[in-house]
Amino acid sequence: MAVKAALSFLLDLLFPPRCIFCGQVIPPGRAVCEKCAAGIETLSGAVSLNTGHAGNNIPCTVLYAYDGKVRDSIIRFKFGGEKKNSVFYAENLSALIEKSYGKDFFSTVTCVPISSERKKSRGYNQSELVARGVSSFSGIPYSDCLIKIKDNPEQHFLSNSERKSNVKGVYRLSGTDIKDKKVLLIDDIVTTGSTISECAKVLRSGGAEVYCAAVALAKMQY
Ligand SMILES: [Zn+2]
Repeated sequence: MAVKAALSFLLDLLFPPRCIFCGQVIPPGRAVCEKCAAGIETLSGAVSLNTGHAGNNIPCTVLYAYDGKVRDSIIRFKFGGEKKNSVFYAENLSALIEKSYGKDFFSTVTCVPISSERKKSRGYNQSELVARGVSSFSGIPYSDCLIKIKDNPEQHFLSNSERKSNVKGVYRLSGTDIKDKKVLLIDDIVTTGSTISECAKVLRSGGAEVYCAAVALAKMQY
């Protein structure tokens, strides 16, 4: 541990940490500057995603509105290799989840999977990093419950009307036992809810009770 701490200290000296929202140099051990910490609003908790299907309401805990500096930081996290942002998102999302549900409510935390091709080219699944972070902050065991079987176009770049058909049938169960378990599904950005809805449908087919949590909620248009 001492070696790890010393290495971390040395790295902070060589590469001073910067605020994940505005890029300003900040003291070691911090993730955001004081100005962003005071100025960026955290949402108050769960919203219910109603994706238009009967019986398909999904309680979803959301940390931020997808806007301004939050939006920029998530884009750098998702497409620009800024993996470390996941730690800050996960710590704050965990606190919000615990505020909404208390401790020991969920059996498993999982994530929206990406295809193996996308994971290979990006090097990581951004939602998995947040989900694993939530697991380590909250103590909820992490498990890959879903697999993506088709390398479809990324939702981020599609119109709202294209998103629903784009995700249809692209996920399947991994084989993890989720029967009668409360599963917390993590995504990075929720926009139309199509991805969450499709993943929830598959998880429910395995007998799970599904809840979701996301770093940010974009303006939804159903
Ligand atoms: Zn800042």
